[in-house]
Amino acid sequence: MKNTLSIVIPCYNEEPVIKETLCQIETLVNDIKNEFSLNTEVILVNDGSTDRTFEILLESVKKFPFLRIVNFARNFGHQIAVTAGMDASHGDAVVLMDADLQDPPQVVLQMIKKWKDEHYDVVYATRTRRPGETIFKKVSAQLFYRTLNSLSDTPIPLDTGDFRLMSRRVVEVLNASPEKDRFIRGMVSWAGFKQVSLPYQRSERFAGETHYPLKKMLALAFTGIMSFSTKPLRLASLLGFCASLFAFVGLFYALSIKLFTDTWISGWTSLILAILFLGGVQLLCIGILGEYVGRIYMNSKDRPLYLVEGFYGYDNKGPHFSRSPVGLEDVRN
Ligand code: UDP
Ligand code: MG
Repeated sequence: MKNTLSIVIPCYNEEPVIKETLCQIETLVNDIKNEFSLNTEVILVNDGSTDRTFEILLESVKKFPFLRIVNFARNFGHQIAVTAGMDASHGDAVVLMDADLQDPPQVVLQMIKKWKDEHYDVVYATRTRRPGETIFKKVSAQLFYRTLNSLSDTPIPLDTGDFRLMSRRVVEVLNASPEKDRFIRGMVSWAGFKQVSLPYQRSERFAGETHYPLKKMLALAFTGIMSFSTKPLRLASLLGFCASLFAFVGLFYALSIKLFTDTWISGWTSLILAILFLGGVQLLCIGILGEYVGRIYMNSKDRPLYLVEGFYGYDNKGPHFSRSPVGLEDVRN
């Protein structure tokens, strides 16, 4: 059964680009219909934009029959917005892409081909070029993907963002995963099934600015590492072990000087060094532990992943949800 497709697009303050994106998406939807006879729904998740993004989307609902809007009560972040889009999707496959046209819409056609003809469950787009991005972003991204991979227990493809196509069964796996610290690309790798990479050239942002400043990038990188690896905990043990070894050797050294020589001086340098070193290692280890404990705490609170203000562009009672978001009752009644 391969009749329908959902395209999920998270939007946060995308006023300068959103109209152009919708026009290009309309062309894409038509191409998909002509080439593959698939009916497409496009789910735009408005992630608490503070500019006119939502107004523009509302106006566009009448113009584009394929358009559905999930409007968040506030900004919940990119990964959560994508999750909500997947929750609300019905397609036999779901495509995730950004609103800023950095992911060229025409690549989606190649993804569909791989899914329809070669029966892949996941087609993820791997970046071969990232024009228009700062050297810092490129280098930090390179470093991040490689560090993550060496730490993660699940291999996660290098230089691959969330631009991808997933079959319904993979989406169901994600929708059934209740974890709050979501690192979607890692979760998809973890799910397995038949996956393939599709190389593509990332375009420049059509307009506007990135909403992933250093702080958010670091937060995502942290989530990626913490959600997919317990190796930092092992690092804590390793550091502790090394520090003890060091202290042990130092002890023998000090004892031998005291017992066999008469050059013993009561200096405090070595003492203060040892205290500082051990104190540092201990704090670091507590910090690492704290990261995991904090995450357990956040997950145990069991708050909803996101709050929806309303659904727009649905002709009946709103979408069928695999996970019921809070706020849904308002639209259903
Ligand atoms: N985005 C979002 N919520 C946020 C930040 C970003 O929904 O809090 C969306 C944004 O509108 C875009 C996508 O996530 O569609 C990727 O963001 P951006 O282009 O700013 O990141 P970059 O491509 O620079 O990594
Ligand atoms: Mg972007």
